[in-house]
Amino acid sequence: MKDAWDDRKKAIENEYFHRQEQKLINQMKQDAEETLIKSHCHNHCPKCGEVLEPMTFREVPLDRCCGCGGVWLGPNDLKTLAEKDHRSWFDLWFRQEETDTAEEEN
Ligand SMILES: [Zn+2]
Repeated sequence: MKDAWDDRKKAIENEYFHRQEQKLINQMKQDAEETLIKSHCHNHCPKCGEVLEPMTFREVPLDRCCGCGGVWLGPNDLKTLAEKDHRSWFDLWFRQEETDTAEEEN
């Protein structure tokens, strides 16, 4: 009878460790996947996947996509830009965009 109880105890223990290991393995898989995703996406446009190039507009650092021309702003950059010139910073941005495009066409 004692042996049967010992076997049961061992089985329960084994099951516990098996579950712990599975949990750990799943966590490691998830971490590895996140690291891979981060390394692939770092400094790349989320829209088209091209490399983002740092630039400055009115002393505010921005990241601009070489592929689609999308612009990424830091958490407070839009607010900073808006505060700098609340009437025309937007116009200035698009005027600069048009000039850049015109230069590229020439
Ligand atoms: Zn892009």
